[in-house]
Amino acid sequence: MVALDGPSGTGKTTVARKLAQRLGAGYLDTGAMYRMVTLAVLRAGVDPADSAAVAALADKTDFGIGTSPDRLEIRLAGEDVATDIRGPEVTKAVSPVSAVPHVRELLVARQRQIIDEVLDGIGGIVVEGRDIGTVVAPDSPLKVYLTASADVRASRRSTQDTAAGRKLSVADALASVERRDHLDSTRTASPLRAADDAVHVDTSELSIDQVIVALSELASH
Ligand code: C5P
Repeated sequence: MVALDGPSGTGKTTVARKLAQRLGAGYLDTGAMYRMVTLAVLRAGVDPADSAAVAALADKTDFGIGTSPDRLEIRLAGEDVATDIRGPEVTKAVSPVSAVPHVRELLVARQRQIIDEVLDGIGGIVVEGRDIGTVVAPDSPLKVYLTASADVRASRRSTQDTAAGRKLSVADALASVERRDHLDSTRTASPLRAADDAVHVDTSELSIDQVIVALSELASH
């Protein structure tokens, strides 16, 4: 198993999927699960700051999350929401929703269950998130903490959003990643931080392929 943590815009999602393909392993995007709860919260008209209402709604959320790195499957009560969970409204509200302790307890339990199923089945999984090496799977044999400079992360976010048909300037992207990283790393429940034994990889100057080669080498030791 590979635990892949780090802030937004470090290339985590692309790296995690490609690494899983290369290793013949499964893949779990835990951020997608927090985004699904957030989408359910927004659709229900619940205030993301209302912890009790958010927690109650999380209990009722029906997650359908696939673990194949080749075919993304993200379903909320059966509906394909892979695009909707990446929208700006969800991105803006996801940090407060993820800070609700009950939401984290629920999702961490579900994530551990999925990881166990995949490890029992195909034997390997790459899991990406913010607390995989510290909370979800502290016994993972390989923990990686991806970083990149704020400027590089903002420019990647801006390119990603533009490709998805949303206009986002680099300045707005910088404000958005900095705001989310600040909220994620200062919350009380499982704040974003590297595990003590994580390998730190700065992706600012590296291509995705260079990162994959470096991580595959680490995974094969
Ligand atoms: O990785 P992604 O940008 O999709 O994550 C969205 C948000 O979900 C993060 O900003 C963070 O608030 C939350 N998250 C988390 N713990 C994880 C994964 C994501 O709190 N393991």
